[in-house]
Amino acid sequence: MQTEHHEVAILGAGPAGLTAAIYAARARLDTIVFEGPQPGGQLTITTEVENYPGFEHGILGPELMDIFRRQAQRFGARSVYETIARVDFHHYPFMLWSDTGKPYSADTVIIATGASAKKLGVPGEAEYIGYGISACATCDGFFFRDRHVYVVGGGDTAMEEALFLTRFAQRVTIIHRRQEFRASKIMQERVRSNSKIDFLLDTVVEEFLGEQRDGVRRLTAIRTRNVRTGEEQLLPADGVFVAIGHQPNTDIFRGFLEMDEQGYIITQVRSTYTSIPGVFACGDVQDKVYRQAVTAAGSGCMAAMDAERWLEAFRHARGETPFVVSSPR
Ligand code: NDP
Repeated sequence: MQTEHHEVAILGAGPAGLTAAIYAARARLDTIVFEGPQPGGQLTITTEVENYPGFEHGILGPELMDIFRRQAQRFGARSVYETIARVDFHHYPFMLWSDTGKPYSADTVIIATGASAKKLGVPGEAEYIGYGISACATCDGFFFRDRHVYVVGGGDTAMEEALFLTRFAQRVTIIHRRQEFRASKIMQERVRSNSKIDFLLDTVVEEFLGEQRDGVRRLTAIRTRNVRTGEEQLLPADGVFVAIGHQPNTDIFRGFLEMDEQGYIITQVRSTYTSIPGVFACGDVQDKVYRQAVTAAGSGCMAAMDAERWLEAFRHARGETPFVVSSPR
């Protein structure tokens, strides 16, 4: 298969990747965006985004990402609905292979592959994901009309999932391993004032149990343990939403880029440079602190500007172009 070449290859199409695409395409760089397994990123599985500046009354996550994508395309960025499955950053131009087997090469790479929902890793979980266990209330909440569902976690995501599920479920129980919530005060207040939501604190889920009826798998119960008393309970459960945070999507970059112990790509202070010159990282794949759409978008802008300047300097050093330092737009 023939290798397709681009000046900038952007991996991921959340707020970081698409902002990088807007800036790179607007700098007249030939830009391709690999949308990956979740086009639009994590905002496509949320509902209302209330804290993205510029949208006074909030905006739906998928709608916001559609706007980002159209804006990038207006300047000439091309989106392809492929996932990069393998890379070779020891080769220049950098080599990338999509899940279709198609080879690509690129002068610069911007990694914006984000993060994915973490799993509990307890027995029965893998078996019942999609059959009663979910990580996305927006996607699956509708299936739990008038049922009793559980949300596991104590952060903003868990609170948001619980609130959203009250639209459908008859009762929502938040299971959290401590007494205190990590979630922001405003989200905690909303949850506590909702009469459909109750709490099971100091508690962990130890096992998911279910049955097979008419050839269809179905979650029916969870086994929980109180971490203070050790008391175990078997609770009937129609649905469980696991909202315990995220892990960076960096598996394919192992062995090429420096990462921390959790797998987040290490970038240089106040820039998006990774350990390989010409490869940049932005958004949640390199940020475990802020993890907001607006900070991801900001770092996407930085990555495109870093890539543009690096490419100019690199080409100048090779005698390909006169050296021009671009001014910030
Ligand atoms: P967080 O890391 O903030 O919270 C994860 C929660 O899951 C914690 O309460 C943690 O418990 C619990 N947890 C982690 N691992 C386990 C485990 N193995 N078993 C049981 N419980 C576990 O992740 P979120 O996804 O909630 O939020 C990520 C970021 O996104 C935050 O910055 C948040 O503010 C932001 N966000 C903002 C929203 C908004 O503003 N509308 C909406 C959603 C997210 P413990 O507290 O004990 O560590």
